[in-house]
Amino acid sequence: MGLISNRIHRSNLQEGDHIYSFRKWKSYSHHGIFVEADKVIHYTKTNKEGTANKLRRKPVCKNCGYDRKVHRGVVITCLDCFLSGYELYRFDYQVPYHQFLLKRSGTCSTGRCDDPPAAISRATALLNSDHGFGDYNLLENNCECFAIYCKTGKHMSEQSCSAKSTARAVAQAILDQNSGRLLDDVRVHDPDNYTNLKEKIDQLITLPFKEIIAILIKLNKNEEFETMEETKNHLAQEV
Ligand SMILES: [Zn+2]
Repeated sequence: MGLISNRIHRSNLQEGDHIYSFRKWKSYSHHGIFVEADKVIHYTKTNKEGTANKLRRKPVCKNCGYDRKVHRGVVITCLDCFLSGYELYRFDYQVPYHQFLLKRSGTCSTGRCDDPPAAISRATALLNSDHGFGDYNLLENNCECFAIYCKTGKHMSEQSCSAKSTARAVAQAILDQNSGRLLDDVRVHDPDNYTNLKEKIDQLITLPFKEIIAILIKLNKNEEFETMEETKNHLAQEV
């Protein structure tokens, strides 16, 4: 499996997997738990308002009987209904810190997950419960929270602070890396402005990207990437 992409083929799916797919505009991903052959338990919007017009266009699924107009909250559908035509990915757990930063948000967690039967059991219990997974909220109680809860027994809202600080760290890392590209570009195309721009950027940025990675490797207990050299090799292969 690559450092960057978690894309998998459906023939490699295993029962209890946390799977997801990116939607059209890519900033949104839909998550669920693959429970058995061609069956996924996932969490959809509980609020019917505002989506009725869009949903009317999708017919009832001939394969699994899923009717988007009727079934809300925690649902069980076929894989095709879950994917809605988009590509299939598998969510990663116990990802090392530095690898977490290189991944897109909503594709992995540093957390440990329970064994597949526990995930299937939690998903099934929520599917059969009258309350389901409660009221849908895009930021605090969404399909990703549902799948992570099934895998780990923990609710993401408890972790929202660390998620926010991680987002800030990623932004910082990307800024550090891209500012070097920007300076290279400006040096060629607008050399008069280069020194001024470099001074400003140096004031803004205190830690180079590689140092952030090195610190994270030290902080991380995972011995998979022990040295900077190994990490560089991995990055060279994967990026
Ligand atoms: Zn279906």
